[in-house]
Amino acid sequence: MRNLYMYTMLLVFTASLFSLSSCSRHPKQRVKPHENVLLLLAHPDDETMIGTFLSTWSHRGHNISAIYVTAGEGGKKYIGLDAQGTPTFDDTLSQSKLARIRKNELSRALKEYGIKSYTILGQADRPFRDSQGRPSRDLHAFLHSNTWDLQKMKDQIVKHLQNYAPTIVVSMSLDQDVHVHHKSIRYLAQKMWEEKQFGPRARLFLAIDEGERIKKKLGEEEKSIWKTYKSVDSRGDTAIGSPVLGPARHYRSQLTGYKMNPDPTTVETLYIPKKALRQF
Ligand SMILES: [Zn+2]
Repeated sequence: MRNLYMYTMLLVFTASLFSLSSCSRHPKQRVKPHENVLLLLAHPDDETMIGTFLSTWSHRGHNISAIYVTAGEGGKKYIGLDAQGTPTFDDTLSQSKLARIRKNELSRALKEYGIKSYTILGQADRPFRDSQGRPSRDLHAFLHSNTWDLQKMKDQIVKHLQNYAPTIVVSMSLDQDVHVHHKSIRYLAQKMWEEKQFGPRARLFLAIDEGERIKKKLGEEEKSIWKTYKSVDSRGDTAIGSPVLGPARHYRSQLTGYKMNPDPTTVETLYIPKKALRQF
C-alpha cells in the first residue's frame, strides 16, 4: 500500500483549500443506478487505492461488497512515532493479533465507504521467496507454490455470487512490479470473468493507483488488452466529504513511511478490457 498517513496529512490541507469548489471536482463517473459492485482484493486496505470511486458509487446508491483473499496478517506492525518522529513497529505482535487488528480496521473503513458486506477468504499472507530465498514477484511461481488454494478461493467466490450477482467486478494490479498477491487475485478475477463466472453481463475493471505511471510500464500484451477507463484525482472531493482519506485513516497499523515519501501522487485509475469497452 502507498503511504496513507502522508495522504491523510496532505488532505487536511487540500480539503480546506477545495471545500468551496468541491462540486466542480467530483469524478464524472457515469455509473447507472443500482449497480452491484464486487471488489476482489488481496489485503485489507487495498480498496483505498480507489477510495474516491468507491465513495462516489456508494453515495449514488450502488451496492458494493468486497472479498479479501487474506486478513493481512503478514502486514506492518506499526505502533507510532518515536521521539525523533521515526515510525516504530511492535515485532512482538503475533500474526493472529495483527489479523484481528486489521479486520477491525477494515470493518471501520468499509463502514465509512458505505460497504456493508465483506468476506475474508483466509488464505495465507506471508512473503513469497524464490529458491535462493529472495523476495519474488513471479506470478506463475507463486501460483504453483500452492501458497494459496486457488480452487478453494474460486469455490468461495462462486458461493458468494449466489447471493450477490455483480454487474461490475473490480480487481487490481496491471503492473508487473507489484506485490505477487495483487497479481494473483487479478489473475483469478480475470480468469473467472473470461469464463463468465460472474454472469454474462458483469464488467471487469482493474483498480490502480498511480495509473499514469503504470501506463508507461505496460508491456505490449497488456496494452493490447487493457485500456484506461477513467482516472480521478483523489485529492478532489465528493458529495460525502473527504473521500479517500476519511476511511483510510482507520488503517493505523499500516501507516508508515510518510516522512520517507514526499511525493503526494493521488491519481486513481480504472482499467477495462478493450473488447468489453462500454461506457457506463
Ligand atoms: Zn495489498
